[in-house]
Amino acid sequence: AATAAGRDVDRPASTADGEAVAVMVNIAQPGDVGRIPIGHCDGVGLMRTEFLFGGTHGLPDEATQLDAYLKVLVWAAGKPVTIRSIDAGGDKPVEGLTIAEDNPFLGMRGIRLSLAKPEIFRVQIRALLRAAPRGALKVMLPMVSVPGEIDSALALFAEEAEGLAGRGIAHAMPEIGIMVEVPSVAVTPERFFRAAFLSIGSNDLTQYVLAASRDNAALGALSSAADPAVLRLIGTVAAHGAAAGIEVSLCGDAASDPKLVPLLLAAGLRRLSVAPAQLAAVKAAVRAWSRTSAVVTEGES
Ligand code: PEP
Ligand code: MG
Repeated sequence: AATAAGRDVDRPASTADGEAVAVMVNIAQPGDVGRIPIGHCDGVGLMRTEFLFGGTHGLPDEATQLDAYLKVLVWAAGKPVTIRSIDAGGDKPVEGLTIAEDNPFLGMRGIRLSLAKPEIFRVQIRALLRAAPRGALKVMLPMVSVPGEIDSALALFAEEAEGLAGRGIAHAMPEIGIMVEVPSVAVTPERFFRAAFLSIGSNDLTQYVLAASRDNAALGALSSAADPAVLRLIGTVAAHGAAAGIEVSLCGDAASDPKLVPLLLAAGLRRLSVAPAQLAAVKAAVRAWSRTSAVVTEGES
């Protein structure tokens, strides 16, 4: 298996008919990057920051967060690094932050929680602003469901940037984009184009489109990103993004599955963020795909 695919993992990927496809990595711990040669990927499409909030020592301070973000930016050596603001709640409870709810997946999670607890969000924002001058940082907001959430987050970033400027602390404003994982965004992506970029979270998007909880194994057969309804929405987001010149990627688990990669390419995606262990297999799937083969094998999907 470390054969044809493994040999080419250090080269950029393009389809059989020559279209470039960015293949980035998802990371969940800063230590992950030590095992990935930066030359094997096109940067980080999703850095989850929940690990910082998982300890028993309380919520992480600004310096701890800054240190974790800088480690990844230094490793990336100028390639884009997309750091997601804390996505607590739902399947990711965090002590001292999340609250018990009857329906956590439909409750106070992701950006909703960050906006409800601005004193905690502001610490992360300052760490991100201070990290930004040190690389190609992009910040991504999880679980956005209405455009006003972007406005509220942008206002907090602006206020904190002003505060840092007033104190003479080096910082920069990163590009700020959003996850597309709630159907309201996927159905009308153009309402959210004040975001600098969109990244589809197929794990949550699938569970919300099919009303099938992602953590219930008994519903596994329902929870497929290959479902035509999910693929239609992915295609909608890709098409609106392309028409408006807004970058669209996909960072859910679907991108890491070589069997699904042809469907995602056929839906119009050209940026995928994958589990590091899947880089070679995903690049091989990209190289095997072409628009012509897609017509033959996926025309009915
Ligand atoms: C997703 O929902 O697809 C995603 C990438 O985010 P997470 O799995 O962390 O919710
Ligand atoms: Mg998600």
